[in-house]
Amino acid sequence: MSDKPTSIEEACVTLGLRMTDQRRVIARVIADAQDHPDVEELHRRAAAVDDRISISTVYRTVKLFEDAGIIERHDFLDGRSRYEPVPDEHHDHLIDLRSGHVVEFQSEEIERLQEEIARKLGYRLVGHRLELYGVPLDSKPKG
Ligand SMILES: [Zn+2]
Repeated sequence: MSDKPTSIEEACVTLGLRMTDQRRVIARVIADAQDHPDVEELHRRAAAVDDRISISTVYRTVKLFEDAGIIERHDFLDGRSRYEPVPDEHHDHLIDLRSGHVVEFQSEEIERLQEEIARKLGYRLVGHRLELYGVPLDSKPKG
């Protein structure tokens, strides 16, 4: 982990949130993650840096960051809330139902289509959420 403040930390400062050492560790763990971890996984990683960080601290901190609009929560079908920093550029997700792995993708075609649909319905699109669920093409059907 680098010592450079992450954008999460910078956003916290801008919003006037008090940054404790533990919050800073949690912010860095979220910023460093590429895999949309859930709270338990965030706790495991944060505790590896500072073993005084409890899971309830992680829960509270994640809620704080989420309420402040600094991180995004995703409730995918596996029933675990997962987190990522609010991205600079919009992307959507494909969730591998076998492994739980989350794949990020961008599709101009889908974006365009969604705007078109909204417009036809008489709306200007201001946001959307798209989740694809799949199993690898080479995997056998569940028997
Ligand atoms: Zn993502």
